[in-house]
Amino acid sequence: MSPDSLDRRRFLKSAAAGALCAAAPDLAVKNPETGKRPVITRPLGKTGLTLPVVSMGVMNADNPALVTAALDAGIVHFDTAHRYQGGRNEEMLGQVFKGRPRHSIVVATKVPPTLSLSQDADAVPDEEPSRTRTVEDFMARLDTSLKRLKMEHVDILYLHNVSSRETALHPFFLEALERAKKSGRTRLVGLSTHKNEPEVLSAAVESKFYEVVLVAYNFKQDHVLQVRDGIAKAAAAGLGIVGMKTFAGGWLDKERTMPVNTKAALKWVLKDPHVHTVIPGFTTFDQLEEDLAVMADPVLSTEEEKDLRLAAAEPGLYCQGCESCLAGCSRHLPLPELMRSYMYVYGYRNPGRAREVVGALGLPDDPCAGCAGCSARCARGFDLRARVRDIARLASVPEEFLA
Ligand code: SF4
Ligand code: SF4
Repeated sequence: MSPDSLDRRRFLKSAAAGALCAAAPDLAVKNPETGKRPVITRPLGKTGLTLPVVSMGVMNADNPALVTAALDAGIVHFDTAHRYQGGRNEEMLGQVFKGRPRHSIVVATKVPPTLSLSQDADAVPDEEPSRTRTVEDFMARLDTSLKRLKMEHVDILYLHNVSSRETALHPFFLEALERAKKSGRTRLVGLSTHKNEPEVLSAAVESKFYEVVLVAYNFKQDHVLQVRDGIAKAAAAGLGIVGMKTFAGGWLDKERTMPVNTKAALKWVLKDPHVHTVIPGFTTFDQLEEDLAVMADPVLSTEEEKDLRLAAAEPGLYCQGCESCLAGCSRHLPLPELMRSYMYVYGYRNPGRAREVVGALGLPDDPCAGCAGCSARCARGFDLRARVRDIARLASVPEEFLA
């Protein structure tokens, strides 16, 4: 075995895995590929993995060369999902990883928590969700993901986009995840959350089952103190903490005249020692370079802190998911989902992902048509009517136009 692969193994297997504390000190490891840039690593809770503090969120990326460049630069952990780009995201990763030693990469995917009705061909479907069917459908989706990834197992399997204790602890989903783990289809189980995060973090601890939480965490969150507290408690319980939505939209305006200082935003999250790694969704080589610089030196400067303070005061594109707008909307529109899609388009330049979300809502092209005056109020001051009208048009754009 070459020294390079030995170094890469050291990333993945923590010698001190059994004796981790929640806020273990950063370790600086020589970059195994270049031998030049140092890489700061942290243990992923009590999972036995140790990862560079910067990983790759692949959601917005569609360039295999970018993933290869990330691998070559020392990033080892890649985060995708069953739904991203209609499955093409997992397929792209499968192509890139083909032929590489499986132990050299850490792959995470996510399967949505969908309750299924029984579908006996000779009978009218039950109105109650079926435990057997739900578990089978979950496993079928996971198997599809594994096939796309060309792998027998992923390293982390998340229940995708969980926003309540009820979903986190639902016995059908726990059974599905347990089966996935027992059958060797995943090494670790977790959940992802970007709404109601403190409740979901607390449920993950309560479960004594989940091993990793992928959680939205950024400088613009109105409830950041509660999120921080939830993260600290989950980390103290030994869970691995992966941060996402760290850029809070990446831009502060639709016209893209006011960028978020993304390097500072990453460092801000990593300042919290309970966050073990982050998954910025870079899509260009310049952005990769910027994230690699953070991987080598995550210390936040006073200037950067000031940038973030100013950006935090702007309404921006980041929807808090606080739901305080819901009660005011006379048509009960799913405003947080629509605002999240707005951010995907104007912040992350990912209309495909926004189209997936908006399309699933089943709304007309102009859901606000005929509504006399907007009675919904956004805690962040968004012009909800204007943004709803803007983003809902996506539903009528054929998906292949955005592929
Ligand atoms: S204008 Fe649109 S967002 Fe505002 S209350 Fe009416 S339907 Fe809801
Ligand atoms: S009030 Fe504003 S920030 Fe909160 S969920 Fe609604 S749109 Fe998002």
